[in-house]
This record gives sequence, C-alpha cells and structure tokens, in this order.
Amino acid sequence: MNLTRRGLMVLAGSAATLSAMPLLAQDKGTIGIAMPTKSSSRWISDGNSMVEAFAAAGYAADLQYAEDDIPTQLNQIENMITSGVKALVIAAIDGTTLSNALENAAAAGIKIIAYDRLIRDSGAVDYYATFDNFKVGVQQATSLVEGLRARFPDVKPWNIELFGGSPDDNNAFFFYNGAMSVLQPMIDAGDIAVPSGQMGMDVVGTLRWDGAVAQARMDNLLSSNYGDKTLHGALSPYDGLSIGILSSVKGVGYGSGDLAMPIVTGQDCEIPSVKSIIAGEQYSSIFKDTRELARVTVGMVDAVLAGGEPEINDTTTYDNGVKVVPSYLLEPTPVDASNWEAVLVGSGYYTADQLA
Ligand code: BGC
Repeated sequence: MNLTRRGLMVLAGSAATLSAMPLLAQDKGTIGIAMPTKSSSRWISDGNSMVEAFAAAGYAADLQYAEDDIPTQLNQIENMITSGVKALVIAAIDGTTLSNALENAAAAGIKIIAYDRLIRDSGAVDYYATFDNFKVGVQQATSLVEGLRARFPDVKPWNIELFGGSPDDNNAFFFYNGAMSVLQPMIDAGDIAVPSGQMGMDVVGTLRWDGAVAQARMDNLLSSNYGDKTLHGALSPYDGLSIGILSSVKGVGYGSGDLAMPIVTGQDCEIPSVKSIIAGEQYSSIFKDTRELARVTVGMVDAVLAGGEPEINDTTTYDNGVKVVPSYLLEPTPVDASNWEAVLVGSGYYTADQLA
C-alpha cells in the first residue's frame, strides 16, 4: 500500500470515527450539572464550557439552572440521582442544604464534585474544583488600595465601605477574609476608615449576591454616614453588586463635577462590568477563566469514574464541617483598565466586539 492510499484510509477511518461521535459521546454515561442561576453570565459560561468538555470526553450532560431557588436546585439534583447519572457536579445555591440528597447519591455510587462553591456539612462530597478564593479577596483589596492611592493620593484616611457576598456561600467568607487580610492592618493604622462602622460578614453580607440589595444598602450608608464626608472606595466582591453600588453613588452625584468616582472592585469580568471599567466607572474586577474550571472538573470526573485519583493541589484549606475536601485551586487574575484587553480579548474569552 502506498503512503497516499494509506493516508486516505486513515482519513476515511477518522471521518467514520467523527461521524460516530454523537453516539459514542453517550457511551460513558450522563453527568448531572446543577448550576445556581442564569441571572449571572458567569454561570452560563461555566455550564456551556462543561457540556462541551464533557462531550469531548465521551459523556452526555444534564445541565440544570435553579434561578437561585434552593428547593428547585434540590429537586433537580434528586431527579438527576433518580435518572442514574454517573456523577454530580454542583455549584450550590446554599452550600448547607443538600446533605440528605447527597447521602442518597453516594449510596447509589454516584460521585460528587463541588463546583466553584464548597458543599458544606456533607461527607459525601468527593472533590472540589475552584479558584483560590482567599487570593481573590486579597486581589480585590489590593486593587482597591492601588486605586485609592492613584485617585486620591493626598487623602488620609480614605473612607470606604465593605460589601460581602451571600452568607450561605462558603466562598463569600474566603473573599471577605482575604480582603480583610489586606485592609484590616490599614484600618488599624488609620490609613483607611469605614465611616458606617459596618464590618464583619454578619453585617456586610448580601443575600443571594443580589445587586439591588447592595444598591439599597449603599443608598442607606450614604444618607446616614456621608453628610459631611466623601466616599473614596467600596470593596465589592462581585460585579453584579458593583453595578448596584455604582448606580447608588452616581445617584448622589459621584463621578460628576468635582466629586470623583469612588474606587469600586468586582469579580467575574461580566460584560457590563468590563464595559464599565473601560468607561472609567468600575475600577477593577477579577477574571476567573471558567473554561479552565470546566476543564479541571471534567478531568476530575473522568479520573474518578475510571477508578483513579484526579489531580489535586490542596488538601488542607476546604474543611466542609465533616471532612477536608481534596481540592484543585485555579489562579484568579486581577483586571483593570490597564490589562482588560490583553487578559480578556487576548485569551479569546471575549471578542473585542462584545466589549465595544
Ligand atoms: C463565585 C463568584 C461569583 C459569586 C456570585 C461565587 O461563589 O465564586 O465567582 O461572583 O458566587 O455568583
């Protein structure tokens, strides 16, 4: 057989393989993917990336969104268990409410991966795939301080307010604690003040990461504490909250005349916030490449279902109250006006058109 003919046969063989792929893709079974909500675009990207990556690895996926409603998510997970999924990948709305369902899943031999958010109070969680959440908080606060230094070089103390994420999401505490590891020493040294005095996750948390709640809280903070003071910054842990905080401050005149826009941080690099960064309103965000998280998660599931050990890089940080869940932590990347294009367009995460 000459080479050309052989090459043609190989090509014909791979064409046959390709056309058979949709069938083969079902062969390794179905994975249940439970995502919290479609109201934030990051979870849509997570879901899409996972369905694609699972298909490429030979699995079908049952992807469900629960619109931030806890009973809906529980119901979806119970249905996935009944339908015989091989593994569950869960980004929990409330990380403490799934224990019973997960016990049933584990008893049925279903593997359980906590996706991005730790599932608490359950021994049934096998692995956790996420970003370095403490580092996210450190990066948010570091960016806040950089912005304060650049925009308000002669002010002491800088007046800031603190916003936390949803208290039922374990990540919210990691973000807040990471941020406070940078801010608390500066508060103690008198470089930063929190005029409202509102500090601690029990006070600054924002249930369900709701931007409208953050906006209303910022309205109240401004009217009660800033009669004779200027706000210089707000620690915001998520872009959806940042948009609410920015609406509030703009509503009382910040960002126009001689009232400079406060430094407002964020997370997820959602398109409205990247546009706001480009327009000089939101100061920064944190990029978490959901394509990478999906890749790591699919690799984990594939390894566990093959009876092997997935790659992990952290065995100490994520104690869920019952066990320390072996984890893989990805690196977050701070984004601001200086690097959004290189990070977000350069990596192909967004096209330039999407951000125009
Ligand atoms: C995620 C963040 C996200 C937040 C709100 C957290 O658990 O880690 O990326 O901003 O939920 O959806």
